Amino acid sequence: MSPISQDEPQLPPIPAIGDIIDRKDKFVEEKHTVITCGSCQAKYSRTFKPGDFTFKKISDEECDKCHKRNALKIFEIYSEWIDSKKKKKKK
Ligand SMILES: [Zn+2]
Repeated sequence: MSPISQDEPQLPPIPAIGDIIDRKDKFVEEKHTVITCGSCQAKYSRTFKPGDFTFKKISDEECDKCHKRNALKIFEIYSEWIDSKKKKKKK
C-alpha cells in the first residue's frame, strides 16, 4: 500500500483571489481629465475619455465656459479610487 494518495492531490490554498475580487467590487477607478481653454483661460475637469492624453488638443469638444471650439487643451489626467458604496455624485 502506497503512503501517498494519488486521488487527493494537495493543492495550495488560494486566499488572495477572493480578496482581490472584493476590492475590485468595492473600489472603482475614476479617471478625470483636466482641461484648459486657450480662449477664456478656464480650467476644469471632466470624466476621462479614451484617447485623452496630456497636452492633447481637443478639437471635437467645445469649452464648458465660453463654448468656443478648437481652444481646449488637456492639462493633466488624474485618477482616484472611489469607494463604490460611498460614491457621491458631483457636478
Ligand atoms: Zn473657454
